[in-house]
Amino acid sequence: MKFSLYFSLIVSFFIIGCASNKNTTSTETNSIFSKGETKLILSGATDEPMRVLLITNPKDSIILRSKSQDFIVNKNDKLLQTFTNRLYQTVRDSASRGVGIAAPQVGILKKIIWIQRFDKENEPFEVYYNPRITKYSDLKQDVLEGCLSIPDIRETTHDRSYAVLLEYDNRTGQHKCEMIEAFTAVIFQHEIDHLNGILFTDHLEQEVKESIKHKIE
Ligand SMILES: [Zn+2]
Repeated sequence: MKFSLYFSLIVSFFIIGCASNKNTTSTETNSIFSKGETKLILSGATDEPMRVLLITNPKDSIILRSKSQDFIVNKNDKLLQTFTNRLYQTVRDSASRGVGIAAPQVGILKKIIWIQRFDKENEPFEVYYNPRITKYSDLKQDVLEGCLSIPDIRETTHDRSYAVLLEYDNRTGQHKCEMIEAFTAVIFQHEIDHLNGILFTDHLEQEVKESIKHKIE
């Protein structure tokens, strides 16, 4: 009985969270990318990684601290496909070896992230468009975090939720909703923070922030 109650709570949590479906399919022909972003995306081949912006570089840090925009997913948008591929190549690059990446980390202020799904068989990388977290569990977890944009710093955060309810658009523009748990939930929280100009170091206690301040500014 306890199990079924728990299960029905989870299901209702899920259904309530998914109630606000929106249609994101469009035939719009205008590019979602600015001229500067288009130039950056086309500056290399589709299988070539992009340069990862660093918080230690003043110009890069302005972009890393900026908010990214939502956009309407057009599955036929070739430039979006090219960028999605290049962002994947960047997180999979041997120089990066990340478990997730967000578009602003390569200078593109659009809500796009790649995440390694440690909660799925074979731990695949998956892309998410317009991701946002609509619910955070009160239960927290301690996690040792690092970031491709913050070299040589790894610290433990204590305020990441154990579970989150995620909404996003998939590659064909369908709006989806999913509950994510454990370490994978932390990767989503970390990468979605990037879309709002927030870095994992913002989650550290004041003392720790002070001690690493001189290294990253
Ligand atoms: Zn990061």
